[in-house]
Amino acid sequence: MKRRGRFAPTPSGLLHIGNAFSALSAWLQMRQCGGEFLLRIEDIDKPRSRPAFAEQQQDDLLWLGIDWDEGPRMGGPFAPYEQSKREHLYEAALDTLREKGRIYPCYCSRSELASIASAPHGLSSEGPAYPGLCRHLTAEERASKAEKKTPSLRFIMPEEAIVFEDGVSGTMRYDGEALGDFIVKRADGIFSYQLAVTIDDAAMGITDVLRGADLLDSTPRQLALYEALGLAPPAFSHVPLIADEHGKRLSKRDKSLTLASLREDGVSPERLLGAIAYTTGWSDQLEPIAAHELISAYHPLCCNDKPIAITQRMLDWLRH
Ligand code: GLU
Repeated sequence: MKRRGRFAPTPSGLLHIGNAFSALSAWLQMRQCGGEFLLRIEDIDKPRSRPAFAEQQQDDLLWLGIDWDEGPRMGGPFAPYEQSKREHLYEAALDTLREKGRIYPCYCSRSELASIASAPHGLSSEGPAYPGLCRHLTAEERASKAEKKTPSLRFIMPEEAIVFEDGVSGTMRYDGEALGDFIVKRADGIFSYQLAVTIDDAAMGITDVLRGADLLDSTPRQLALYEALGLAPPAFSHVPLIADEHGKRLSKRDKSLTLASLREDGVSPERLLGAIAYTTGWSDQLEPIAAHELISAYHPLCCNDKPIAITQRMLDWLRH
């Protein structure tokens, strides 16, 4: 069986160097093992997504030398590759979870949730852990709350520990209950990232999920969904985030380090890849290099979970 990897950007902004590094790592992993590489557009949150960003992200990837075997512009056996067109699959998964008693309606208001946020609960990629306030409502309580508010739907996390082997960070162990019951469908009808990504990775036969370390604590949540839905999970790897010289993680707001703006500044894809390859140790020379030339050099940065800093020296070299 061929291994299958993917890059799954949310088109809510432009790709920056950090996204390029995640995309490149996932692409190299598949190109090195002769696997297949997919692109999926995660535009499930329609108010935050823009078709123009999705187009620009694809242009940026191609500019870098990252191509895909299946996805938008290419098609493929698992089309459509845009989450906004796959909602029937997420709804079907919710039906299964409902039948198994794994979801419940949550009527908590924004202000109730905000007061939880100020309580000392651990922060995570999902925000503060939800303490299960609506999990044990009686049928009468639900009926009376339902008169006033459309609920979101939450998934019941298992109590036991969730353990997995991360391809970069090694053995990871999470307390399922401490992560809290998370939303699978928002009150405004939008399916959550956690649900959509799990359904799509399973439906598209993804064997290797490689993504940024900001999503590390999403993995135990997704593993719980795989388990509840009786789906086989892929292998997971989380690559370090790229930070600026002060150790601050890049975000979509750091306009000067987006691929589009580097490109406008005349930076070549080979220089950008050369800087990334040198910083990660895939190359021991700081020199321009093409994406395909990195295929044999790629290795997964095992047990390196510290952010990678793009230094001023590197930025000067890029714009040389
Ligand atoms: N769509 C997510 C993002 O852009 C990434 C999904 C994933 O790789 O699991 O942050």
